[in-house]
Amino acid sequence: MEGNYQRLIEFISETCGESVEEIERKIEAKQAKLSGLISKEGAAQVIAAELGVDFDKQVIKISQILPGMRKINLTGKIINLFPVREYNKNGRSGRIASFILADDTSNIRTVLWDENHIDLFVNGKIGQDSVVELSNASIRNGEIHLSSFSEIKLSDKSIEGVIVDRPVFKKTILDFSLNDNVSTRAFIVQMFEPRFFEICPECRKKVVDAECQTHGKVVSEKRALINFVIDDGTDSIRSVMFSDQLDLLLSKEELESPELFAIKKKDLLGKEVIISGQVRKNKLYGNNEFIVSNLDDINLNKLIAELEG
Ligand SMILES: [Zn+2]
Repeated sequence: MEGNYQRLIEFISETCGESVEEIERKIEAKQAKLSGLISKEGAAQVIAAELGVDFDKQVIKISQILPGMRKINLTGKIINLFPVREYNKNGRSGRIASFILADDTSNIRTVLWDENHIDLFVNGKIGQDSVVELSNASIRNGEIHLSSFSEIKLSDKSIEGVIVDRPVFKKTILDFSLNDNVSTRAFIVQMFEPRFFEICPECRKKVVDAECQTHGKVVSEKRALINFVIDDGTDSIRSVMFSDQLDLLLSKEELESPELFAIKKKDLLGKEVIISGQVRKNKLYGNNEFIVSNLDDINLNKLIAELEG
């Protein structure tokens, strides 16, 4: 997110006392030196290290979090608490607790491994809607992780205006990883015929011959999906769009008539779009696919405004 990057530069600037412009110049120089092999965020991290900006013991906002950060401190509100799970993996067993932590800039999944921390939740000392202070936390796979060296405690602060929507990050397809909620600018390079199926109106699961496994005979709803491939120059990914979003791509008539679909498909191939969604594993094939939740035509004015901003 552009805003993240901006806040990060401001953070570096405040910490080391150099101006935002000076830091931006250094980041651009670093990127140029590395022939663009490093992202702006990555270059900012290198510059921060070079300037001696240490994230240790710093209180940061969620939007300032960068991959690989360690020993960070933050305060947030638990907006979604998940049940404690038990795990047994590679001969090690234990409990794991997790929740979504939010502040006024963003939100992030937080995972707890320490038995004493987990007891705070089991005993009800910390729970849904608690404001908590985390210290010595680290970032792994885009999540906050608390080990036994970390601390979590109730905060007496209150947080207003927490961000509850899942943050969407701008990424290139090459950098997509599983479960990412991401947005990219890409071309539609391949498109397959729509597929139709029926679902149960109660549980939204697939039905065969108007019979749901749970609800028996039902008046099923007709649904559709379209698979297509997008490519942004770094890589390509198979994408899928379902009924609720398909009107962003084509009309109902174009969806249902093979002749009209063929014409529309010609129009869509090679089209550049801003597309967002979630990266998921296709259970059948084991590869990653992109579940599309939004698709926007490239709007030049918007893009120019963004580049200028
Ligand atoms: Zn059902």
